Amino acid sequence: MEGYAVSIDSDPIRIIEAPRPGSWAADEETFLNQLGGAALIIVPGRDSSRCRAVCTLLHGNEPSGVRALHRFLRSGHEPVVDLLCFIPAVETALHERLFQHRYLPGERDQNRCFRPPFDDRPGRIAQRLLQLLDVYRPECLIDIHNTSGAGPAFGVVAHEDSRHEALVSLFTQHLVVTDLQLGALMELSRPQRPIVTVECGGAGDRRADRIAFEGLMRYVDDDQVLALARGVHLELYHSPARLELADGSTLAFDTRPVPGVDLTVPPDLERFNFGTAPSGTFIGWLGSQQSRARLSARTGSGVDRLEEWFRIEEGRLITTQPLKLFMITHRKDIALSDCLLYAAPETERRSVDS
Ligand SMILES: [Zn+2]
Repeated sequence: MEGYAVSIDSDPIRIIEAPRPGSWAADEETFLNQLGGAALIIVPGRDSSRCRAVCTLLHGNEPSGVRALHRFLRSGHEPVVDLLCFIPAVETALHERLFQHRYLPGERDQNRCFRPPFDDRPGRIAQRLLQLLDVYRPECLIDIHNTSGAGPAFGVVAHEDSRHEALVSLFTQHLVVTDLQLGALMELSRPQRPIVTVECGGAGDRRADRIAFEGLMRYVDDDQVLALARGVHLELYHSPARLELADGSTLAFDTRPVPGVDLTVPPDLERFNFGTAPSGTFIGWLGSQQSRARLSARTGSGVDRLEEWFRIEEGRLITTQPLKLFMITHRKDIALSDCLLYAAPETERRSVDS
């Protein structure tokens, strides 16, 4: 690893084996320039008969995971088993301003490309990453992300079992179990190779950087990462629905209803983030009769839970049952383009000894 890689090999993922810790630049932007593009860095562990994988920077504007990996790589710390480090969206992260773009303008979202067709640049990177997983056969994979808004860390899995829970518990105790099929890497989890996503908090939040690094170090140091430790409790969120407004809707955050706006949300709604909102929790004021039709609360499988989980009383949108709310945003642009919040029915707390 001397100098910078400037040419792009025909292989969409450059493989770098057993790099010297001192070969990596201290500065993260220079480090990404050293990689030159999508990369797989293989770090030999004490037990080379086994390997684990970590992936991060599938989204170019989510730096916590790559910061953690960069720090780990420079430390020269020896992992307990071989570690495969996939860093796909290097060019995206370097495009224009560092960590500005989620994906390259005009391209598809890299974490929506893990299913055919693989016929564009991010598709070829995804396909090659999957081939490399079949070649190296890691015992598991953790994919580290940041959320767009601030908030606590949480895991996301497509399969619910103790192995997935154990992996997530290295980072956080909040776990979302989703049935969304978007072409994300974690959807390709299987019993021989569990894959989990970890959202370690907001991009640019120092706590998120720390959660990513501390979780990564547990992942590289623990001999067994697929067994849930006794006494560990995970808070589960099943098949969450996204509370969304239709295109062209209007939204405001205010302490009183804003005239002419479809939904006015009190600014303190965020206090329910990752907590339980009891039945009757006030979500916001609806503007008009038509505003209701612009709202939906669809789950990953497309079922709309709006009628079931919410009701309207005198123009106020309130919950009909205890709901766990998370990823509540206070940013108007995100609430309108993505969703205002995720909601899941309250389920029992589960632990290894129950
Ligand atoms: Zn992401």
